[in-house]
Amino acid sequence: MSIYDQYETTIGLEIHVQLNTKSKAFCGDANNFGAAPNTQVSPVTIAHPGTLPRLNKKQVAAAAKLGLALNCEVHQVSYFDRKNYFYADLPKGYQISQDHQAICTDGYIDIRLKNGETKRIRIHQIHMEEDAGKSIHDQDPNYSLVDLNRAGVPLLEIVSEPDLSSPEEAHVFIAAIRQLVRYLEISDGNMEEGSLRCDCNVSVRKKGTTELGTRREVKNVNSMRNVKRAIEFERKSQIDLLESGKTVDQETRSFDAQKGTTSSLRSKEDAHDYRYFLDPDLPPVMLSTDYFAQLRAEMPALPQELFQQFTQEFKLSDYDANVLIEDKHLALYFLDLVAQKISPKSAANWMSNVIKSHLNQSQLAIQDFMVSPSQLAALIQLVESDQVNQLVAKQQLFPALVAAPNRKPLELAKKLDILQAASNEEDLEALVLEILQQHPDKIAKYKKGKKGLLGFFVGQVMRQTKGKVNPKEVNPMVAKLLDSI
Ligand code: ADP
Ligand code: MG
Repeated sequence: MSIYDQYETTIGLEIHVQLNTKSKAFCGDANNFGAAPNTQVSPVTIAHPGTLPRLNKKQVAAAAKLGLALNCEVHQVSYFDRKNYFYADLPKGYQISQDHQAICTDGYIDIRLKNGETKRIRIHQIHMEEDAGKSIHDQDPNYSLVDLNRAGVPLLEIVSEPDLSSPEEAHVFIAAIRQLVRYLEISDGNMEEGSLRCDCNVSVRKKGTTELGTRREVKNVNSMRNVKRAIEFERKSQIDLLESGKTVDQETRSFDAQKGTTSSLRSKEDAHDYRYFLDPDLPPVMLSTDYFAQLRAEMPALPQELFQQFTQEFKLSDYDANVLIEDKHLALYFLDLVAQKISPKSAANWMSNVIKSHLNQSQLAIQDFMVSPSQLAALIQLVESDQVNQLVAKQQLFPALVAAPNRKPLELAKKLDILQAASNEEDLEALVLEILQQHPDKIAKYKKGKKGLLGFFVGQVMRQTKGKVNPKEVNPMVAKLLDSI
């Protein structure tokens, strides 16, 4: 057994979600990514004397919804505190955050691991805060530049309990959080663009011991892949330290994406270093139970609920259900198809094969897909009622419908001349016999036991009829005629 296997890893994540509100957290400056530097900065953002912050209701709604979705206690009263520190990109000299009473506490999320098991990860709290500006160190040889457009942008910070025990679990957890914020439409959740940023707290301890090891915190890891790499590096380097008789010191570290390593930034700051105190400029956030009820009513079905419905009520496989719930709008489209009396199995089949590959190829989101669920349902019904062969429908009718999303699928099928004749059995038999007689050698082989040739004959019939006959009829007929020859 390797030395690394004698330890277990403990991970707690702090995930910062940048909200997609129109304006900033405490003033009317626009919250949009990519504007020219220092153009979205009013006197409030740069903290001129005499300016006062004002709460953004959308930030509160986002926090409360995420809290409900993560099974938290959402508090009727919470407070804003000042977290004081000095840095060039923090013009106020403090960040408005929530320290002694966050809006949401004590939640959990059940994540589904690769092996099919679920694991409950507790959420310590979700609090509201504002972002700092951006220091840019690589554009000028002599100076660091500061862009304050991001200063004051609303954030939610989700703090997990140390319940994760591998890089893979951390990955699944973040993916689940990202999926939730997208379902709630409170953030685009893109890690690469900084809308989701993650601090990874990692410790190790010998298996069988009860006390957690000392943790190190890796700041601002900016992709799923790097989260895994950072945790993996920490795990190994902490074990190496302990094995060589040294100790792990509690510290804050940064991740070097090029090298895949972490290095010390500073020894860990404690809460008291920040001199947290109630922000005297902002009153308590007071929320009513009516307000919670209203938010609940506005919330969409969540991935977990859809997963249950798709696997239990619709009997889809875990895999198919996961493909469908990956994106809320994909799941809703699927539900629309089912509401049009398409069986869940075949709706799922069309969604995960035909629709998804069409969207991929044309680089479209399902929201931009022009064929409505009812039009697609009409097409699928042509297949289910044996009027159009399934393969022909996928290869010819579907593209025709995409090109003319408002035409009736039945008309399109007529125009393409692909409607299966309500087959006249005698005509079909005659045709099958004719085809069989063209291949005496293959018939002989079939008779000698090469039963796989049945597929060859059926294929010939499908080809000659241009797919207009129903394979469900042709199959037994060919078998019967072969035996009778
Ligand atoms: P602080 O307030 O100093 O940042 P917290 O106790 O709030 O510290 O924890 C911050 C994060 O660190 C949380 O996500 C928590 O789950 C995680 N954490 C705490 N202790 C450990 C540990 N021993 N190992 C790994 N993660 C930990
Ligand atoms: Mg912290």
